[in-house]
Amino acid sequence: MALNVGCSARPGKSRANRTGSWRVFRPVFKHDKCTKCGICSLVCPEGCIEQREDEFFEADYEFCKGCGLCSDECPAEDIVMEQEEK
Ligand code: SF4
Ligand code: SF4
Repeated sequence: MALNVGCSARPGKSRANRTGSWRVFRPVFKHDKCTKCGICSLVCPEGCIEQREDEFFEADYEFCKGCGLCSDECPAEDIVMEQEEK
């Protein structure tokens, strides 16, 4: 049986495609238990977590898709997923 292959997204790097408008959950970085290990930044599939001048990490909500991977992998449980208000 032949499989139909399709794609609903335009090609391009995720940094070039804003993903924030349809996000259901957003990661909130509490910065109270963070050890500044950088794991969240390494695992983010969108590459949208960056280190600030104070060395804490923060997500760019223009590109975050709310997958929760950063929250799942944070060893300090410093990232809480909260539902977006529409
Ligand atoms: S993974 Fe958690 S503890 Fe590590 S830098 Fe990110 S928020 Fe901080
Ligand atoms: S929720 Fe997903 S896309 Fe958003 S910052 Fe965390 S790992 Fe990246």
